Amino acid sequence: RELPGDPITDIIPREVLHACYTKVSPSAEVDNPQLVAWSDSVAELLDLDPRELERPDIPQIFSGASPLVGAMPYAQCYGGHQFGVWAGQLGDGRAITLGEVLNSRSQRWELQLKGAGKTPYGRYADGLAVLRSSIREFLCSEAMHNLGIPTTRALCLVTTGKYVTRDMFYDGNMKDEHGAIVCRVAQSFLRFGSYQIHAARDDFDLVRTLADYCIRHHFPHLENLRKSDSLSFTSGDGDDSVVDLTSNKYAAWAVEVAERTASLVANWQGIGFTHGVLNTDNMSVLGLTIDYGPFSFLDAFDPNYTPNTTDLPDRRYRFANQPDIGSWNVAQFVITLSTAGLIKENEATYAVERYGMKFMDNYQALMTKKLGLPKYNKQLISELLKNMAVDKVDYTNFFRLLSNVKSDPTVPEDKLLIPLKAVLLDIGKERRDAWTSWVKSYIQELSTRNISDEERKASMNSVNPKYILRNYLCQSAIDAAELGEFEEVRRLLRVMERPYDEQPGMEKYARLPPAWAYRPGVCMLSCSS
Ligand code: AMP
Ligand code: MG
Ligand code: MG
Repeated sequence: RELPGDPITDIIPREVLHACYTKVSPSAEVDNPQLVAWSDSVAELLDLDPRELERPDIPQIFSGASPLVGAMPYAQCYGGHQFGVWAGQLGDGRAITLGEVLNSRSQRWELQLKGAGKTPYGRYADGLAVLRSSIREFLCSEAMHNLGIPTTRALCLVTTGKYVTRDMFYDGNMKDEHGAIVCRVAQSFLRFGSYQIHAARDDFDLVRTLADYCIRHHFPHLENLRKSDSLSFTSGDGDDSVVDLTSNKYAAWAVEVAERTASLVANWQGIGFTHGVLNTDNMSVLGLTIDYGPFSFLDAFDPNYTPNTTDLPDRRYRFANQPDIGSWNVAQFVITLSTAGLIKENEATYAVERYGMKFMDNYQALMTKKLGLPKYNKQLISELLKNMAVDKVDYTNFFRLLSNVKSDPTVPEDKLLIPLKAVLLDIGKERRDAWTSWVKSYIQELSTRNISDEERKASMNSVNPKYILRNYLCQSAIDAAELGEFEEVRRLLRVMERPYDEQPGMEKYARLPPAWAYRPGVCMLSCSS
């Protein structure tokens, strides 16, 4: 860590050298902070009775105004590639870790306050977070978890009672917004950039120390791998590219990080999630979704969609580019490990290859399940995605409705599109023919599978959510919250806790977005707020 921990100099923006973190305490000003929402299931992870969160001292603790007993607050040093360019030191500019909780199941959970004040890593920004972005992070962390996709979690959301000034569209129009703080929870917030920064400074011992730490705590199965674990693989062609992962725990680690990343990105593609800021400082080494900024779930299917105004005009982080960006980011991570002398070049190459293989395996399996097909059918799936893009079909509702198509080849042609009519809006004759022909091939393919329509529907509905956290739903909750009304945030959380279930009475949360959902500031946001 960085020495010494002087409370006065702690927050001066600076290059922090030869250290993974700086001791720094929360310092956001508060004025009658309020706890406005929390997640019961995260409380339970921490062995907290959710009712304890209603204790009167909780808003003070989770806004950082009162210290948490036993905490040793710090901010992490990391670097990263932003939009493909090495940006040097970044770090926790407004996130402060309070410490770790060891629960009764011997799991370690790190608690972190986001928006709790300045650290040495915030450059000249204020270290604060606004209500709008904190609601988004709080809700999406929990929505993602309940969709079954690895993510950092969120324990609670606290308003600070203070205003924060923001230039929402970077157009010079300053606006005072409500301040808020989210308590994020994860087994670790280590990122690719946590390693990159030290390698970039030739601080190779520190890369090794931090890799050892991470393996010991989060990948213990990779310590003391024995030959009998037979983790030897052949990469590329020729004998010299045989990679024996049992002889180098760092190579085994690189491969596991690559695979976890691949599996995460495959999940995003399946569910229709666009992260929006896939910089290497936003890539978790545990393969978690991390840093909810201008993210978005797809409404109308558009492979070129990016939710991030900062990503224009290149659209580096567009939906369809995420798998390649994942690979590029994994490549940066393994280059870091090889620069630091932890892995050899062929091991680095091999890890990137494994990313590609794992991504394809997981993505194909997931799409096969989403369509309820007997086996992967590349042509049928790519034809479908093409059609969806042409007609701007709602991604989530389409797959949910698709499970109502009967695998009955005798259904007359003019009846084939009935189950899908709620998502095939305003399409002319030509497009209707294209869809009819697709549904015909789909039914044909289904008929080779020996399961009942009911069984298939249940299986499809277990991967095709009915409820997703659409941007416009978030925005409605934000609009109410800005007027001091938080019930909609809590209601959305409850709906998103069971995204695959039919929830009678909650159908309005599964509706297609209204026209205002496509206005800037709702469907697209800027990077950091
Ligand atoms: P992001 O684009 O959200 O990944 O943020 C990039 C970097 O900017 C990270 O080091 C953040 O901690 C930092 N950052 C973003 N917003 C703020 C803020 N309001 N105050 C201080 N640092 C910030
Ligand atoms: Mg970030
Ligand atoms: Mg961020």
